[in-house]
Amino acid sequence: MKATFRFGIHPKDRKELTKDLPFETMEASDKVYIPVRQHIGAPSKPLVKKGDKVKAGSLVAQASGFVSANIHSSVSGEVEGFEMREDISGKKIEHIVIKNDFNYEEENMPILQDPSSEEIIERIKQAGIVGMGGATFPTHVKLMPKNPVTHLIINGAECEPYITADYRLMLEKPQEIIEGILLLKKALKANKAHIGIEDNKPQAIETMTALCQDKGINVVSLKTKYPQGGEKQLIYAITKKVVPKGGLPADVGCVVSNVATAFAVYEAVKKGKPSYARFMTVSGKGIAAPKNLYVRNGIPFEEIASKLGTKEFVKAVCGGPMMGIALPNLNAVTTKGASALLLLTEEEVRHAEGLTCINCARCHKSCPMNLMPMMIDSYMQKNNLDAVKAYDPDSCIECGCCGYVCPAKIPLVQSIRLAKKLLKERK
Ligand code: SF4
Ligand code: SF4
Repeated sequence: MKATFRFGIHPKDRKELTKDLPFETMEASDKVYIPVRQHIGAPSKPLVKKGDKVKAGSLVAQASGFVSANIHSSVSGEVEGFEMREDISGKKIEHIVIKNDFNYEEENMPILQDPSSEEIIERIKQAGIVGMGGATFPTHVKLMPKNPVTHLIINGAECEPYITADYRLMLEKPQEIIEGILLLKKALKANKAHIGIEDNKPQAIETMTALCQDKGINVVSLKTKYPQGGEKQLIYAITKKVVPKGGLPADVGCVVSNVATAFAVYEAVKKGKPSYARFMTVSGKGIAAPKNLYVRNGIPFEEIASKLGTKEFVKAVCGGPMMGIALPNLNAVTTKGASALLLLTEEEVRHAEGLTCINCARCHKSCPMNLMPMMIDSYMQKNNLDAVKAYDPDSCIECGCCGYVCPAKIPLVQSIRLAKKLLKERK
């Protein structure tokens, strides 16, 4: 039987739009806009001023707390100034505007030949690497858990519909990913390393299995099911360990990272390259020519959309359609965590209607965290926060399965997100 978790759903994967398209490099145009926050945690502190000359890889903003990350220029050129621009949530944050000189001169760090565990973690910190699957948690912090780690688990599931960037990375850069995994394993002093890949990607499983055999990395074929790439779901599928409620993967001796993050670690250690560019999928029927792209950070989404051409679309999303963020407009820019840009047409979107609950329990039966979304929503409608709390909305991973299966099209995830926010405020 294929490794998997309980419940979940089987949405149409729509990966056929880009899965056979090799990466193309998208050139930055005359300006890039580097946000001072591209991670979970405190915004970074700008180190440059108007008129400064920078190279691709120059440190332009420094991490400002324990959970924060360094930020580097993605092009060479001159700092033109600072601009308050919208991020993917529509909030205005500071961006460093850099005029591109199109020379792409680089400022790299020294290559580390045989680094110690501590040297790897320090390099990851200096390079500003964050979880590139979309979580954007600073990776160096994840590599210093309180408990000893036995299992490093690499997420190659890519269970969100449309997105194929991790899949293409496994086909096009497998050796580099493997070197990154071995560096992460060494940093954590973990005994075992696994990479989990859904079985709708047989070519990736074959490629990684052939190359991992003598490297001590266990390639696990996972059942194709959403949210197979969820941290807790992946840990259970591969190790059968259950992360305790409110706990972290390290509580059961695991750390989960993503294939794109492993690749970034390889580049930082073996090439000395900071994290200022990434691979992403641009897809959906609203894009005239969907593609997998290698992009530098700081390129406005509207620029990408206009280069690839658009058709009439009704929704734009950064990330996947299940857990991604619906964009209010295309003003936001490419960042470390932006794994995809989707422009979706009317036929690809399911609008929430909020009809009356028919108590069918489908939302409960699909929930990978075994929650009762209909009860949370029902008590939210009645403004009864104490009753809401009893149904444990804080354990919700916001995967969207419940809303997806609900025949009444009730916006369950939005309701649960609001419940979490109100409970946090009350605390
Ligand atoms: S309640 Fe949360 S975890 Fe459960 S299906 Fe809905 S979004 Fe996913
Ligand atoms: S799936 Fe929708 S209609 Fe069915 S119980 Fe859940 S909230 Fe109610």
